[in-house]
Amino acid sequence: MRWTDRQLAMLREMGVPPFWPVEPEAAAVAAPAAAPRVAPVMAPVTSPPTAPPTAPQGMAVVARPAPAAPPRPAPAVSAKAEPPGAAELVLGPRPTGVDTMDWATLRDTVSGCQACGLCQSRKQTVFGTGHPQARWMLVGEAPGEQEDREGEPFVGRAGQLLDRMLAAVGLTRSEAPPEQQVYIANVLKCRPPANRNPLPQEVAQCEPFLLRQMALVQPDLILAMGRFAVQSLLKTSEPIGKLRGRVHEVQGVPVVVTYHPAYLLRNPADKALVWDDLCRARELQLGIAAAR
Ligand code: URA
Repeated sequence: MRWTDRQLAMLREMGVPPFWPVEPEAAAVAAPAAAPRVAPVMAPVTSPPTAPPTAPQGMAVVARPAPAAPPRPAPAVSAKAEPPGAAELVLGPRPTGVDTMDWATLRDTVSGCQACGLCQSRKQTVFGTGHPQARWMLVGEAPGEQEDREGEPFVGRAGQLLDRMLAAVGLTRSEAPPEQQVYIANVLKCRPPANRNPLPQEVAQCEPFLLRQMALVQPDLILAMGRFAVQSLLKTSEPIGKLRGRVHEVQGVPVVVTYHPAYLLRNPADKALVWDDLCRARELQLGIAAAR
């Protein structure tokens, strides 16, 4: 894999030694815990090209049918609370019909959602951002303080790091063609108070929104960032370290697992592992695009 000066500058900014992705031996030394390169375990994934020579700009754009999405009203029904967890959770009416909503209806439904207690403390919902037909979909955990204020995911420090990581592999959240512009969403659309961890019931109540976003985007792959994204999407409690290095699948979409950017801010040495995951995801996505 060859890197442009810009990408090398990005790698330096991420704190990743620029030689690292180029020299597999060096990678083995720098990241002994890294799992082997792509070993798809899911049926529909084709083998990635051995060395994608160009940046994603070279990818073919394939027209996809617009997802059928007849808008439906979202009548409220009572949600059943699971056994009580650490905190008392008030569950409100959970919207129905989410699985057939179009973008506008889905966004409206999310912004009016009162299915869990987070609606009481949020400033606003944080729906998601990016290209509605992006080839890459990124899934994070939940809005933080800044996201709650601005209504956009990943705008704080973790988001800035994420943007630099994306730029290093030729991707952006800013307006661009769907093979370069990602779509970013969170497991939760509302900020948990004081940025506490999402509760299982909150994740369960919010899940249909994320699943509908995935169905509308129809990405080539999903990058699941952090424990809550991974657990929610893959329905597993296995640690990220054990899940990395393989391609998983959710609703027919390949899922690549990696650490959350906020984790990287606390553990910068692991940026190299995430870089490896991004390279793996990029090879996978290029392979999928080439096979279309
Ligand atoms: N962390 C997340 O998981 N999502 C955000 O939107 C911001 C920080």
